Amino acid sequence: MSTAYLNGEYQPLEECKISVLDRGFIFGDAIYELIPVYDSKPFYLSAHLKRLFRSMDQVNIANPYSKQQWMDIIQHLIDESGLQKLSVYLQVTRGVAPRDHAFPTETPPTVFGMTNPWPQTNEDIYANGASVVTVEDMRWDRCDIKVTSLLANVMKKQEAIEHQAHEAILVRDGYVLEGSSTNVFVVKNDEVNTAPKNNMILPGITRDVVVDILHELNVPLIEQAVAKQELKDADEVWITSSTKECVPVTQIDGQAVNTGKPGELWKRVFDAYQQCK
Ligand code: PMP
Repeated sequence: MSTAYLNGEYQPLEECKISVLDRGFIFGDAIYELIPVYDSKPFYLSAHLKRLFRSMDQVNIANPYSKQQWMDIIQHLIDESGLQKLSVYLQVTRGVAPRDHAFPTETPPTVFGMTNPWPQTNEDIYANGASVVTVEDMRWDRCDIKVTSLLANVMKKQEAIEHQAHEAILVRDGYVLEGSSTNVFVVKNDEVNTAPKNNMILPGITRDVVVDILHELNVPLIEQAVAKQELKDADEVWITSSTKECVPVTQIDGQAVNTGKPGELWKRVFDAYQQCK
């Protein structure tokens, strides 16, 4: 039974209990963060904490802890897990209050943290690539905040699964923004495109790592969303996230991307990513 953190206490995950009046449950009034851990060390911790603090700030939940306190909680959870490769999930809700849309006053936030073993990613998606489907983006226009209200993302991911695909690529007004839980990179003629960091995508930490790698490799990068047809005509497509790292996409809507095999640039980026860990 893994150890979790809830409002100042470490306890077995199964024993963690929150009120049904928690606004995270009632309204999805909550934000979260997920930090990958390699060799028992959080990867890009400062970037993840920065995004966590920004998420709280953007939804007006007062950050209850100092940076050091957050770091201590994360380290304690890692130590308790006994794992070396894992992820730490943190969630902060606006707390428990009688149901009312208006923010409660003087209600402390609920803070929850848990660890999860590294997901059993099917190695096949690195060897042969992932398949994706394109779907219409129906989310709100603050996709830059890491909120727990992920119903639209959940429904789109399920649509992908029902089409035997690994991920749903969200398209708005004909332009490719990101995946249901990933960022998207598109390669054409040795140039890489990815959607810009604005209110329409989640600013992925893995996206930033891949952007840095591309700069180091002197590969031209354009931060501009591509049209859906350009996605389908690409030489290579990749999806990125903390637990998937960088995955080559070899099928879009049932059609092969280029040769239908993971691309050469993807392999260079993937290898460089492994070196960063
Ligand atoms: N976009 C969305 C919508 C996501 O949910 C995620 C993962 N939380 C990402 C992109 C990738 O973000 P990260 O690289 O920080 O895991």
